[in-house]
Amino acid sequence: MIVKVDDLTVRYQGILALDGISFEVDEGDFLGMIGPNGAGKSTLFDVMLGLNTGYKGIVEFFGSDIRKSRDYLGRIGYVPQNPVFERNFPATVRDVVQMGLKRGSDAGRIDGILQQLWIHELAGRRIGELSGGQQQRVFIAKALVNDPKVLILDEPVTGVDRQSTELFYSILSELNSVQGITIIWSSHDLDAVNRLANHVACLNQTLFFHGESERFFSDDKLVKQYSEASMQEHMHQH
Ligand code: ADP
Repeated sequence: MIVKVDDLTVRYQGILALDGISFEVDEGDFLGMIGPNGAGKSTLFDVMLGLNTGYKGIVEFFGSDIRKSRDYLGRIGYVPQNPVFERNFPATVRDVVQMGLKRGSDAGRIDGILQQLWIHELAGRRIGELSGGQQQRVFIAKALVNDPKVLILDEPVTGVDRQSTELFYSILSELNSVQGITIIWSSHDLDAVNRLANHVACLNQTLFFHGESERFFSDDKLVKQYSEASMQEHMHQH
């Protein structure tokens, strides 16, 4: 078992962000986490990454309670949602990827990873000159340098063009199916989740579905319920 979340509840002052969430992620799973804005996805990721400790319930990684030791973080790669740099930020692509390397780790892996992510030709460029999609791949590379067992990805909603998005999806697929990396991926793209993930977690303060993605996507009622919830959210914002 890679992750076990048991009865996780998070409140911010009066606001209930997560209410009694329980789910598990097994080795090799590709979990698509879907839910409208404000559903609690970032809150859940913050807890999993040890950034929010004010929660109730139990979160385990690799069979150990994350409150007891932070060692598990060394086996997780995290790709943030909006890694946007100023144009003149003084670091190259290679610098940024290298920053992910733990002290004493093997820097020899970097070139292979740059190639795998189609950014080897950009290695000497300033990070701020790259497009959103290219920056996203740099951050995947940075997350991969320590050979993680799990990748946690917060998908950007904007700033990445269609072609880069498709390349991103094929890279995720390959990391999961060829390298056996367990993936936990928050996404707004239902079609892509249907195509790529083998499990779905549908979050909206509570977990209203968690299971095999086939079961979710073959149940029109569930998909409709999810779509209506996110549509309402969308309308609130406009
Ligand atoms: P998502 O990532 O799915 O958009 P979040 O985890 O960011 O959802 O937010 C869940 C709920 O918690 C929302 O109602 C949000 O307004 C609230 N929230 C998130 N962070 C804070 C915070 N630091 N203080 C107060 N409320 C917060």
